[in-house]
Amino acid sequence: MATIAFIGLGHMGGGMAPNLAKAGHEVRAFDLVPEAVEKAKEGGCSAAASAAEAVKDADVVITMLPAAQHVRKVFHDDVAPNAKKGALLIDCSTIDVASAREVGEGLNKLGFDFVDAPVSGGIAAAAAGTLALMVGGTDAQFERARPFLEPMAKAVIHAGQLGAGQAAKICNNMILGATMVATCEGFALAKKLGLDLQTFFDISSKASGQSWSMTSYCPVPGVGPETPADHDYEGGFAAALMLKDLKLADDAARSVGAYTPMGGEAEELFQRFVDRGGGSKDFSGIIKMIDDSWKVPDEE
Ligand code: NAD
Repeated sequence: MATIAFIGLGHMGGGMAPNLAKAGHEVRAFDLVPEAVEKAKEGGCSAAASAAEAVKDADVVITMLPAAQHVRKVFHDDVAPNAKKGALLIDCSTIDVASAREVGEGLNKLGFDFVDAPVSGGIAAAAAGTLALMVGGTDAQFERARPFLEPMAKAVIHAGQLGAGQAAKICNNMILGATMVATCEGFALAKKLGLDLQTFFDISSKASGQSWSMTSYCPVPGVGPETPADHDYEGGFAAALMLKDLKLADDAARSVGAYTPMGGEAEELFQRFVDRGGGSKDFSGIIKMIDDSWKVPDEE
């Protein structure tokens, strides 16, 4: 069994790290928020006082951080100077492809094995160990990383070379942002047309309108499986992070001349939701803005 440093114990990392401990690894957990480290301890991890302490002598380092600037900082300041020679480094955060490649190439040159391994599935899948992971790196790096990713996942897929995991994740989340908005619009219209929303869910989740946003992450409270909608859109995937991903998709599309009008529209809508104070709410809370009978947070 390996010693794993896990850095970033938020909504996702807080669920993922304990699954590695349950698989028998020694997991040294660190986050800037002390309560998050305490929670990881309850999940079978040991607490590290700093990122540097967590990575010292670790065989594997896994990060689950908000955005590219955090990933760059942690790998540059904490991991590269302190990690054991030849350690396996895995970044599970969602960041832009160029940053993933730049960070990864730098670390590979220093003799580490780096893979980008962003995840899909939300907080419930993070806690249950049923995420989908998409991995960028060489064949050998993928095979080296796979056993450490499997305890957190229902699927671990080699997307391609360095940065390919992030490319797949950005495309996936552009689809997610657009389908969530479309799902919210469908429910808002169904309500105004006098349909019972549970009945509409029963129909659409089995008909051609179904998607993950509909069946697994329904934005209407009390309808479908338990989701952040049932907790006033707290927890889950922050709208600010969805907006970040839609901007990454927009930048990526521009860089290769791809036409992504639905992604662009979703970005504009999430920007509006964040500007109105919804940034820390779960992204499905955008239904409050779309259906004018549900108020946005700053108007409550
Ligand atoms: P989060 O904000 O809940 O967690 C991030 C954690 O990183 C926080 O606890 C923060 O304190 C910690 N952190 C920041 N800088 C740090 C540093 N220098 N050292 C140690 N810890 C540091 O975010 P999240 O929802 O867990 O998402 C993490 C990543 O996963 C993001 O890139 C997000 O886009 C992606 N993602 C999220 C979801 C979801 O449903 N929440 C799903 C798939 C992917």
